[in-house]
Amino acid sequence: MGFFRKGEDNTQSAAIDDLKRKIEAAKMPAEVREIAEGELGAISRISPAMAEYSIGLTYIEYLASLPWDRKTEDHLDLGRAEMILSERHFGLGNVKERILEHLAVKKLLLSQSKLPHILVVDDEEVAVRNLEHVLQKEDYTVETALSGAEALRKMEISSFDLVLTDLRMQKMGGIELLERIRASYPQSRVIVITAFATIESATEAIKKGAFNYITKPFKLDEVRSAVKAAIEKASSLSIKGSVLCFSGPPGTGKTSLGQGIAEALGRNFSRISLGGVRDEAEIRGHRRTYAGAMPGRIIEEIRRAQSSNPVLMLDEIDKMHNESRVDTASALLEVLDPEQNHSFIDHYVDAPFDLSSVMFIVTANVADNIYEPLLDRLEVIEFPGYTEEDKEMIAERYLIPRQIRQQGLSHCPPEFTRDALASIIQSYTKEAGLRGLERQIATICRKIAKEIVLNACTAESRLVTPQIVETLLGPRRYYFEAATAKNRVGVTTGLVWTETGGDIIFVEAAKMWGSKELILTGSLGTVMRESAQAALSYIRSNAAVFNLPEDFFENHDIHIHVPAGAIPKDGPSAGATIAMALLSMLMARPARRGVAVSGELSLGGRILPVGGTREKILAASRAGVKEVILPLKNKVDIDDLPPNMKKDLEFFFAESIEEMVDRVLI
Ligand code: ADP
Repeated sequence: MGFFRKGEDNTQSAAIDDLKRKIEAAKMPAEVREIAEGELGAISRISPAMAEYSIGLTYIEYLASLPWDRKTEDHLDLGRAEMILSERHFGLGNVKERILEHLAVKKLLLSQSKLPHILVVDDEEVAVRNLEHVLQKEDYTVETALSGAEALRKMEISSFDLVLTDLRMQKMGGIELLERIRASYPQSRVIVITAFATIESATEAIKKGAFNYITKPFKLDEVRSAVKAAIEKASSLSIKGSVLCFSGPPGTGKTSLGQGIAEALGRNFSRISLGGVRDEAEIRGHRRTYAGAMPGRIIEEIRRAQSSNPVLMLDEIDKMHNESRVDTASALLEVLDPEQNHSFIDHYVDAPFDLSSVMFIVTANVADNIYEPLLDRLEVIEFPGYTEEDKEMIAERYLIPRQIRQQGLSHCPPEFTRDALASIIQSYTKEAGLRGLERQIATICRKIAKEIVLNACTAESRLVTPQIVETLLGPRRYYFEAATAKNRVGVTTGLVWTETGGDIIFVEAAKMWGSKELILTGSLGTVMRESAQAALSYIRSNAAVFNLPEDFFENHDIHIHVPAGAIPKDGPSAGATIAMALLSMLMARPARRGVAVSGELSLGGRILPVGGTREKILAASRAGVKEVILPLKNKVDIDDLPPNMKKDLEFFFAESIEEMVDRVLI
């Protein structure tokens, strides 16, 4: 028995030694190391059979596995970044430009933050020179001012990480200067120096936002360490909205551009999906006192990235679960806020981890759906949907070559004809992005791979024509809905904006005996329902204009239905489409399916401008729409679109419903 006991002890001490080495190797900051060593001391005193032992052991191992001191070296070379982004991605000119600008700003700020900039303010020249000398020896860039007014003038011209100011000065005192700095330059820290240190003046200064105070006569070491602490925390990167947010439909290249940025910077890349996150603990982890406690996703992803400065993509920030939005959003705010994230505390880790060198990029399908306080922090870059020509080009240059490589077909690469590509895009996908297209190309490549393995690589087996596409992918899935459907009374075509880009909808209206009720069914949000009501009211109050009997609603119910399919983003832009469906039904004139309408309708019959025109126009082309009717005020948006996007469409811009009637109704 004694023998076993001894063996057990040996294993335990070997495990403890091993942990000691791990702690050593992890190069933790002193305070974290203390925590780890404290925990190690605690578990070395208890039996490995106890639950606390393995909880403690796992915890220490986790702490030691975090990349506290591990960073990849940045290559902030803009030329190289530009090359990588443009080699990897077709088009997206504006998006790339914005990204490069963002990187340029980062580079500038980073180079400035390398040499901390300090302003020393005192109306006593000797004191100023003295401090200047001390701080210059510490390798800080130091400027001086002999009054509060002069200090403010200097701050207008250059940015300072830290201001050291005397409290008692002629004219403008230190407290007033502090207040003005806090108001206009919140990123600059302030340390007040006072010979008249009473508890009140010091606490007043701290209350008003001073970072610290030093009493005269001061010890040099005291000044050095106070300045060092302030500088470490002052983040000149804390510019508002400095986190990039890529917003756009799925498959438009958000993730792959994020990867491109990481590659350009020479950083590791990692992703976390926030879609459906309900609980703050998913971001910030559980306290270790909970059974089965786990770290949060942020810290876990950093651990996986194995460097403390990866590019970390937070996906679907607009899909965070609604009920828990405030909690999770405030945890995320802390993660993204450069003022706070240098000491992010995950509940499980229970020690501050510096996230300030992580480059966060968040993504969303619809930026409007992002929780407001979060949106405030973000610099939103819109990723637009692709035209059919863009898709063909990207498929030829990027997607097909990649699939050929991935499916092992390099020795016998399939050749897709232009018609075959067009047919895959039109008949097997219906999307703003490229995910479906890439999937279909992958399927075709796999089937060809099988063919080649079973038989041989022949010119015939490599050629992909529209017929081959149909043989391999089966009957077509999508039709030009608007072009092929029959014109009917009471059914109009509308253009809407959805999470996945643009889409078309068919609005149906019917009338039956009843008691003046407006029945609304289908995928209509609250605002769309109100638009339907407004459309009916407008027609009722203007019945004569459309040659309708004044009492057409008497003894009737009217039903408006939007068949499910696309789930439109709720908004007023279906108003004109609904009004046209009602007029078609009431005037018994069939509506042209190939004419698509988008416009907000005012009670007075005016047509007001709408959003998402680019995505709507792309959707119109995909659906085979011939003519698009939009509000006159949207003409500028259409003028701005590239010509190839408009080439198969006719446009009409209307200011009132009356102008639309004969264009939509037969
Ligand atoms: P998202 O993150 O927006 O959903 P992804 O980045 O996953 O989209 O893109 C889907 C696919 O399309 C990826 O394989 C990506 O490389 C490709 N892709 C998207 N946009 C482009 C582009 N402009 N040029 C080349 N490939 C692209």
